[in-house]
Amino acid sequence: MTLDQNRLRIALQKSGRLSTDCQQLLKGCGVKLNLREQRLIAHAENMPLDLLRVRDDDIPGLVMDGVVDLGIVGENVLEETVMERQATGQSAEYSVLKRLDFGGCRLSLAVSEEFDYQGPKSLEGKRIATSYPWLLKRYMDSQGVKFKSVMLNGSVEVAPRAGLADAICDLVSTGATLEANGLVETDVIYRSKAVLIQSANPLAANKQKVIDKLLPRIQGLQQARE
Ligand code: ATP
Ligand code: ZN
Repeated sequence: MTLDQNRLRIALQKSGRLSTDCQQLLKGCGVKLNLREQRLIAHAENMPLDLLRVRDDDIPGLVMDGVVDLGIVGENVLEETVMERQATGQSAEYSVLKRLDFGGCRLSLAVSEEFDYQGPKSLEGKRIATSYPWLLKRYMDSQGVKFKSVMLNGSVEVAPRAGLADAICDLVSTGATLEANGLVETDVIYRSKAVLIQSANPLAANKQKVIDKLLPRIQGLQQARE
């Protein structure tokens, strides 16, 4: 199975917190999909549209490299990727077609309950575990605080207890995970939602037609939910 150049290509998270909402969104737009199998690529049955199902972290790069036309991803991952790619001289161009009404979360600093937290300055010289080193650095720079980041792609919330870090910078939605790990949220450094983004590459007319059909439908779905 391959991607057909004549069909609009959208990258979506394969499985995780965004996948159900993304599938519901497409379904609501009238896209008929066959997602029974754990395939990387899924073809829509009733429009020239293919889905590429990947890890969310790969979505911004696939769009920025023009491998896919569109992608749905959290702004947190998007913004982090932009900063990382800019720092390493890779292209980081894209446009936001629509901010979506799901995937809401915040990226926050948190410390253990015993930590005497008096503001970001309390973290001067400390180790902070995170999967978002660039967003964290931007915030700490704005506060004039130097720190050491400890890069973890999972289990960030156990890092303080495990003695790997003094604080964490992680995604929060309800705060239940923080609480379960004896952590207290101190600073919200970024607020995120899912966004539909488009590659900066010029788009063939037939693909643009599909977008022109989908966008008003997304708009309508979101308005109905407001
Ligand atoms: P993948 O296997 O695709 O890399 P992941 O484990 O990195 O998945 P998820 O936990 O599924 O990612 O989260 C995907 C996105 O969902 C996040 O980047 C964020 O934009 C959004 N999100 C919404 N609420 C939360 C939350 N409470 N915790 C984490 N992410 C959340
Ligand atoms: Zn991920």
